[in-house]
Amino acid sequence: MSSQSDSPSIFSRIVAREIPATIVAETDTVIAFDDIAPKAPVHVLVVPKTERYRDVVELAAADPALLAEVVAMAARIADQRAGGEFRLVFNTGEAAGQTVFHVHAHVLAGDLREGTLADA
Ligand code: 5GP
Repeated sequence: MSSQSDSPSIFSRIVAREIPATIVAETDTVIAFDDIAPKAPVHVLVVPKTERYRDVVELAAADPALLAEVVAMAARIADQRAGGEFRLVFNTGEAAGQTVFHVHAHVLAGDLREGTLADA
């Protein structure tokens, strides 16, 4: 199901503390919280606080420094929770599995080598 036209997005409502989440890191511009349906031993979403950008392509084109902040926060979380190694996934478009059209990175970590990883 797409939440493409929803505003504020579910993630903006987490930023505003209108709905609960387990927040693991936050700066003035970026927030990170545990995914509600984890697909890996560590599954954290890193989200720019602005919902102006629907996906990583828009974010990279408009504000590459903010994209770099997302990546840096992902790396810090992986350092803290998984020895620094991680997979970074940006689902882009409905057919790719994107359901929330407020750009976000999935930080997946833990030992991801064995077996198949469910779609993030
Ligand atoms: P997408 O499918 O758009 O790439 O990722 C959306 C992610 O948001 C999914 O992994 C889903 O589990 C997560 N999610 C959806 N609603 C909530 C929520 O209310 N709280 C949290 N913590 N995660 C959510």
